Amino acid sequence: MASHGRARVTGRLAQRRVVFLVVFAGCVGLLGVGVPGSGGRPGSDPTPSLSPDAVAALFERPLPGVDELAERPAITGDAAADAHIAALAEARGYRRRGLAVGGLATVQGQQLQQSAADDFVAMADAVRTEVGADLRITSAFRSVAFQRDLFLRRLQSQSLVLHGRYLTNAELALGLGDDAIDATLAVVSIPGYSKHHTGLAVDVGSGGRASYSIREAPGWQWLTADGFANALRFGWIPSYPDGAGGLGPDPEPWEWVWIGRDAAACAVAGDCAVGGLDALWAGLSAEVVGWAVDADGARARRLRGVWDGGAVALGGAPGTVRSRFDVAAGRDLAGPAVGFVLALELPEAATWVCVEASSPPARWSRIGCAPLPQDGS
Ligand SMILES: [Zn+2]
Repeated sequence: MASHGRARVTGRLAQRRVVFLVVFAGCVGLLGVGVPGSGGRPGSDPTPSLSPDAVAALFERPLPGVDELAERPAITGDAAADAHIAALAEARGYRRRGLAVGGLATVQGQQLQQSAADDFVAMADAVRTEVGADLRITSAFRSVAFQRDLFLRRLQSQSLVLHGRYLTNAELALGLGDDAIDATLAVVSIPGYSKHHTGLAVDVGSGGRASYSIREAPGWQWLTADGFANALRFGWIPSYPDGAGGLGPDPEPWEWVWIGRDAAACAVAGDCAVGGLDALWAGLSAEVVGWAVDADGARARRLRGVWDGGAVALGGAPGTVRSRFDVAAGRDLAGPAVGFVLALELPEAATWVCVEASSPPARWSRIGCAPLPQDGS
């Protein structure tokens, strides 16, 4: 998971904002995505298939439009019980998730980030055209408070089933309700750890089927066929796919998450660039500082900024090259000149920014994202 730098405002925001992102080598880890049969090189295999573990890991690359939660939200409100429950959740593979920032679009009565909404609608149109099936969203963006209610209600019902009564926080903290907690975590995340917080996740139904029986729906089979090829085409991936483990809940065939078409395409081709961004300042002009290397470990040849809704920022090219011996030291091929300073113009309304890199003919890939400081923050 990318760890974003915290925003610091050094000047009053005016018409334009300065974005100044400093870098930590290694703050975005090199994500080794296994691409069986492709050797990981562009163009060496026209139809590579990603393993369920590898495809699920793509959501751990930098994501647009989210702000990291500063601390773990309360669950029951009892510190000891919450620490115990969170430890069990993390042992299953649950991770803290960012919360959507900025406006959300409405699709089928549910809220999603705009780019995710657009690509979901396009994917639903395609499944209708190609196999005559529907894709229905049953849940999308969830607030922390909503997720907390969902988790506690499930925990209470599991306590009734397994213990014949509700358990006290003291009992939960002592480990006397671990069976009920684990049965709950098999299907529901604790607050702050759900991908639904990002505004990039959907639970879907199709053909009148939902939950586990969705596997029998032609629409779901279309999504998953050929290594999730159709879903990847629209920038969507399975969230907790069959065959992947250690992700948190048991496999959830109904949940899908958006990473974007370019991110999906570069993952399939095995040529995603990697890099990092860190701290952020805003003022009268815009500057981004970071580092980026392409899939060969050489300096990425193109850089650009992207803000809310996937709009490309003005400015951006070509950027000043900076030496980053710390990055070079960790890689065989990367020379020291992989750091950059990038000037960007962003509208005052922008709420987040990502920097993308590529070396043609590879697709753009996000190397880092950060929320922008808002007035009054
Ligand atoms: Zn879900």
